[in-house]
Amino acid sequence: MGLADLHVHTIYSDGSDTPTSVIELALGAGLSCVSVTDHDTLQGLPEASVAAEKAGIELIPGIEFSASCQGREVHMLGFLVEASHDAFQKTLTEQRARRTTRIHEMVERLQQVGAHITAEQVFAHAGEGAVGRPHVAEALVQGGYVKTRKEAFNRFIGADGPAYIPGSPMAPKRAIEAIRGAGGIPVLAHPVYLEDDTLIDQFVKDGLVGIEVYHGGHTPEVVARYEQLADRLSLLKTGGSDYHGAAKEGTPIGSTTIPTELVDALKQWKAEHH
Ligand code: AMP
Ligand code: FE
Ligand code: FE
Ligand code: ZN
Repeated sequence: MGLADLHVHTIYSDGSDTPTSVIELALGAGLSCVSVTDHDTLQGLPEASVAAEKAGIELIPGIEFSASCQGREVHMLGFLVEASHDAFQKTLTEQRARRTTRIHEMVERLQQVGAHITAEQVFAHAGEGAVGRPHVAEALVQGGYVKTRKEAFNRFIGADGPAYIPGSPMAPKRAIEAIRGAGGIPVLAHPVYLEDDTLIDQFVKDGLVGIEVYHGGHTPEVVARYEQLADRLSLLKTGGSDYHGAAKEGTPIGSTTIPTELVDALKQWKAEHH
């Protein structure tokens, strides 16, 4: 059977490749299915869909929602979401507005610690996509305040940094409900970064359907732990590379894959529940 990569970013959030390039890379990697999962936007899907059809690859429409819970960042993937739901689009617009406000807050903090970049410089790096910390990192590199994006996170904008402003205050429950309301399937992204598996029980009560068991940030031991957890809580399993292109090196498209049987399970869930 074929292989799928269900976690890929494009220029419409903090990836560096266009949706068309992403599909071409997926074809080159021998994948038969890919999901574009940009942060808080569906803007990349129309182009990805055209490219996927041309390449003979299946595109799973996706999203990666930012939420937070007890001071921790929670990323919620949504698969097979439908762009036609007005309430969903409204929620995404709110999320992106929050991202914009947050950039102004971060730039203010950066000014206070001597890194004189402007919000306009950050927005220029984001283009028309959802703006985020990686774009701040690029502006810091360009301004000569750090040598690499990684250094920008370590010194300024990582969770412990002096210019860190928390992301979306949205509760995971709301993200789950928004995804389900748009005909989609909510899946907890890279659960190891939560650093607290006990939170997952509550997410399941809130309507979580799956977890991203397979991810580059998961060691084989962690994968085994989440496979067991998924079985115990009857959650669907997904996985992907979390590809960001040159914006985050080391995880090429196809570096983490799942068999397409797991994609079939997502489709089956949708057919039964929506
Ligand atoms: P934001 O959504 O604005 O909070 O930005 C989060 C994004 O920043 C993640 O999706 C990653 O792409 C990237 N990121 C987070 N931590 C790091 C890090 N330590 N180094 C490089 N990129 C990071
Ligand atoms: Fe990202
Ligand atoms: Fe993420
Ligand atoms: Zn991601």
